[in-house]
Amino acid sequence: MRIKVTMKLIIHRGTKEIGGSCVELQSPKARIIIDLGMPLVNDRNERFDNKIIEGKSISELVENRTLPKINGLYAGEQKEIDAVLISHPHQDHYGLLKYINPDIPVYLSKGSLALIQASDIFIPTKTNIQSSITFKMWKPFDINDLTITPQLADHSGFDSASFLIEGNGKKILYSGDLRGHGRKGILYQKALEHPIKYLDYLLLEGSMLGRSTCLFPSEKAVEDEMASIFKNKSNIAFVFCSSQNIDRIVSIYRAAKRNGQITVIDLYTAYILDSVKHISKHLPQYWWDDIRVIYLKSHADALVKNGVKSFLYDCKHNKIEIKDINNQKDRIVMITRDNLYFTKLLKYIDDYSGIEAIYSQWEGYLENNNLQDSLKQKGITLQKIHTSGHAPEPDLQRLVNTFKPKCIIPIHTFFPENYKLLFPDYEIKKLNDGEELIL
Ligand SMILES: [Zn+2]
Repeated sequence: MRIKVTMKLIIHRGTKEIGGSCVELQSPKARIIIDLGMPLVNDRNERFDNKIIEGKSISELVENRTLPKINGLYAGEQKEIDAVLISHPHQDHYGLLKYINPDIPVYLSKGSLALIQASDIFIPTKTNIQSSITFKMWKPFDINDLTITPQLADHSGFDSASFLIEGNGKKILYSGDLRGHGRKGILYQKALEHPIKYLDYLLLEGSMLGRSTCLFPSEKAVEDEMASIFKNKSNIAFVFCSSQNIDRIVSIYRAAKRNGQITVIDLYTAYILDSVKHISKHLPQYWWDDIRVIYLKSHADALVKNGVKSFLYDCKHNKIEIKDINNQKDRIVMITRDNLYFTKLLKYIDDYSGIEAIYSQWEGYLENNNLQDSLKQKGITLQKIHTSGHAPEPDLQRLVNTFKPKCIIPIHTFFPENYKLLFPDYEIKKLNDGEELIL
């Protein structure tokens, strides 16, 4: 008698939300988890409060549904999971890794591992990956009866992968997060030119569904707009962005360079960039002529505490002090974040007139904070120059119409019901979190 081969898919979280991504795939011989992210929202769709995980045990976190209920995944349990795959180094895709059984291998790209380990130095809740296996993009590897091919994707997360998973006569693509308008947009074009054929299931991210379109159409447009602002500036330009958005750091650096200006980064950003220098020679580094590093006590303390005090000496040659910034304000472009340090820094700037303040990350973060107002009080207008890390609807449609998957499964979206409208010619399988689907 022929044994029936079954594969099972369970989206533990992500069928109706962005954040906390977690997918399980079971085959006759393997059980794998793809992504294990920190939630961004709670059950009531309010912003997830990281405080609710502090000091909690694994069973308490499963109980309060921060951790998906997956037997054999977590520390202290009998191991039943063969591998955890991480698509990219964004917290909402890897942020709960620290709870897994340390014997379970974590497969991820070199860049993802480097960024996660570098971040560990600066965040109190460390991920501390115990058993990591770095994969090469486009090079298939096996986990028992499953063959996984990581595919480099264009995304605001560094060294991001989509996963093509094949086994037991099925072909599944987990999109991860992706776009086609970033610095690696060529990857999206290439995917259209050489589509994956005979795809059974496409787990497709839909972050941009139901959102207004990107402020700017591409990373290149972001760079150009910044360059034109920097060109005529008479004072410092502050750019608020995530130091982990490497594409954006490059855009800011290039825009400054085009005008012969200096990009000031903090120690944290310098360390993050240094951690990925082996991935690309083109990423700005602290020792470059037109980069300066500003030392913040909290960053210096974190480096010392984690045994990398030497980095403080490494950056010393390019260290910049506030007085040097005040002396050449028109030449300074400073990458910063909306935090107490920025408020403090502003106090040391001796003249506010002509300051450019650019918000270069998702606008949603501006809600519930008073950055705009506090800048306004000083006569500074906050401009928004940003493009999304995710593909807008037309790009998703192009991808689907080229790949022609037999079935699309919505994931990483607040609007799974929109998939039917967006892809009317395709079968859409809308799942619930935790629901089993036999493939
Ligand atoms: Zn992401």
